[in-house]
Amino acid sequence: MEIYQKLQSVTKNILKEEPLKKHTSFQIGGPADLMLIPECAREVAEISRILREEEIPYFFMGNGSNLLVSDKGYRGAVIKTTGLCEISTSGNSMTVSAGVMMSKAANLLLRNGLSGFEALSGIPGTVGGAVCMNAGAYGSEIKDVLTETTYLDGTQVKTINGQQHNFSYRHSFFSGKPHCILSSKLTLAPGNPNEIKEKMEDYTQRRVSKQPLNLPSAGSTFKRPEGYFASKLIEDCGLKGTRIGGACVSEKHSGFLVNDRGATCEDMLRLIDFVKNEVYKQFGVELELEVKTIEEDWKGVLS
Ligand SMILES: Cc1cc2nc3c(=O)[nH]c(=O)nc-3n(C[C@H](O)[C@H](O)[C@H](O)COP(=O)(O)OP(=O)(O)OC[C@H]3O[C@@H](n4cnc5c(N)ncnc54)[C@H](O)[C@@H]3O)c2cc1C
Repeated sequence: MEIYQKLQSVTKNILKEEPLKKHTSFQIGGPADLMLIPECAREVAEISRILREEEIPYFFMGNGSNLLVSDKGYRGAVIKTTGLCEISTSGNSMTVSAGVMMSKAANLLLRNGLSGFEALSGIPGTVGGAVCMNAGAYGSEIKDVLTETTYLDGTQVKTINGQQHNFSYRHSFFSGKPHCILSSKLTLAPGNPNEIKEKMEDYTQRRVSKQPLNLPSAGSTFKRPEGYFASKLIEDCGLKGTRIGGACVSEKHSGFLVNDRGATCEDMLRLIDFVKNEVYKQFGVELELEVKTIEEDWKGVLS
């Protein structure tokens, strides 16, 4: 049986030659040979099994808000987890599937009067992406509220507790591992819904006023170097507004490299290198990418 037919017997959500620019917040990236959007853990396991058997490289993505994909696309399969979308609360906790958007989780917590997630509510990714990245904002990180994750290791379903995530800055147990996060349990504190709402609105306002949300980006392009702020270093180098092709250092927030006027991945990578070199030359600080780059021939979970 041809690979496409085998996969079709598992999920109806298969796209061929799917442009990844349609699935990344940078709006950059050529076509993936295949994109699959499973709707339950069983489908993820079965798809992974078939792809491994056929030695087809693959990787997992959430909302694509932290990915920079090659202009040539990806020679393999992308498993997009946004079809995993169950969410429920019980007492002070929430069980949420990996593909649920952070904003949706935040709104349900608000409705249930559960506090502790407000600062994370504006991160434009999925819960799975946030767990993998230990996403954080305004002094909070997902690690502060995460008590359990269930994931797929090959075809085996496993569960780890909060501590076993080995969280550190933008890093978790899942970073660089071939596992698929399926769902997580968050534990919150009871709170006043009006106060929770006010806090969420305040954080939204801060994003709107400081971040170039009108242009495609992946948020902060670089990690925060210890003892510095990447945006301040970039600004102090005089790089605000620096442009290579369609890639530009945002005028509004210099930690954001933005896709202004149809940037290619090549433009963005050249701008990233330019910024890194200038910051190193002027301040001796090595900027490290927060954004994950996906090359055409990356072996994904098979590497
Ligand atoms: C405007 C803007 C603002 C942002 N602000 C913030 C911010 O304040 N704080 C912050 O931390 N980030 C921020 N980001 C970056 C981004 O939103 C986060 O990193 C987010 O957590 C990524 O989630 P995602 O679902 O988009 O993951 P993706 O970008 O799709 O993937 C990110 C990583 O997670 C892995 N992954 C995703 N889902 C799974 C899964 N189910 N199983 C295994 N691995 C998985 C991918 O393989 C990849 O390595 C911002 C981005 C934008 C565009």
